[in-house]
Amino acid sequence: MRLAVLKERRPAETRVAATPETVKKFIGLGCSVAVEAGAGLASGIPDADYAAAGAEVAADPAAALQGANIVLKIRAPLAAGEGEVDELALIPRGALLLGQLQADEKAAAAYAQAGIDAGAMELLPRITRAQSMDILSSQANLAGYRAVIEAAGAFDRGFPMLMTAAGTISAANVFVMGAGVAGLQAIATARRLGGRVSATDVRPAAKEEIKSLGATYVGYESEESKQAQTAGGYAKQLSAEFYAEQAKVVAAHIAKQDIVVTTALVQGRKAPQLVTEAMVQSMKPGSVIVDIAADAGGNVALTKPGEMVVTENGVKILGWHNWPGRISGASSSLFARNLLTLLTTFWDKEAKAPKLPAEDEIVRGVMLTRGGAVVHPSFQAAKA
Ligand code: NAD
Repeated sequence: MRLAVLKERRPAETRVAATPETVKKFIGLGCSVAVEAGAGLASGIPDADYAAAGAEVAADPAAALQGANIVLKIRAPLAAGEGEVDELALIPRGALLLGQLQADEKAAAAYAQAGIDAGAMELLPRITRAQSMDILSSQANLAGYRAVIEAAGAFDRGFPMLMTAAGTISAANVFVMGAGVAGLQAIATARRLGGRVSATDVRPAAKEEIKSLGATYVGYESEESKQAQTAGGYAKQLSAEFYAEQAKVVAAHIAKQDIVVTTALVQGRKAPQLVTEAMVQSMKPGSVIVDIAADAGGNVALTKPGEMVVTENGVKILGWHNWPGRISGASSSLFARNLLTLLTTFWDKEAKAPKLPAEDEIVRGVMLTRGGAVVHPSFQAAKA
């Protein structure tokens, strides 16, 4: 088995899909590994570290992908016209491709046509057995941490109450909106820094989780919100009436906050807008809003994806792209381990090759295409 790791070329992508640690493990499984030169640089991993782990450092994507049976990526490979290299065309027929592919029907059809067995890691079922392979969780956790660290950096006061001989500085009020994986880590991080933390969510289960981390729950609850969670554990899209009531509660609370971290997502939809322009205007100068949902359209009306906005009333809104990528050493390390765990779970030790049983729940959840056909139920219309 030859395994290839490419340098990521999409904008704002700083992560890499394998680390020297996982390279060593893949070699231990019987693979040879090729890593494209410079692949780890933006995550602080020089080529020499991959070479020391036993990888061949390939000069370019073509050399890395030549003869590859397994291709590991963070993001979908570039297709023709998407960038400087047509990575898709360089992936050998029959290869297994794993990454956060964010595929649509068109892309799934293209993988099928190219004869690539593509696995979209973001579609992994969120079941206990798959937790250690769950890129959405590993990356969201780090995004939540990083968001608070960046909020603290942009804030002109401190998070903890500081009692000094010169006087006392009060603790920052921190409000986390959306208490999923990223939000819970944001709460924990803000608490560790000494902030006075409150949080909201629509899923009933989140209320106890917020409280268990020592934060105050703030929110609107109704008969509708009792059913706000899907069987998969995600938030449902709720009615306009619910969102209007939620906004009233949030508006009263947000005016007293120094830091707001927004993480709310509804699967398959644009991020819900939770913070209006009027809410931002109600905040004190110097307050900081961090919108982790920026790449999904943003939870804040004034967010500009990829930018920091400073409003006329002196509120900073950080809407950076790719929050996990802003802590690339750690996020690459966890992403790489997620991929390694998936492959070792489905590894045939004798054949020294992956063995992906089509009936397995994880395999069924992840695989978009196999043997030149679209196999994922959500993309069946795109059958090649
Ligand atoms: P997510 O990224 O889809 O959304 C982030 C949060 O935003 C969620 O908590 C959601 O309820 C919240 N949200 C949506 N609309 C909102 C609104 N209008 N106001 C406030 N909050 C809103 O979610 P996630 O972080 O990926 O996790 C969702 C759930 O899945 C959690 O319960 C988590 O514990 C669970 N989970 C389970 C596993 C597993 O068992 N393997 C793995 C990961 C996550």
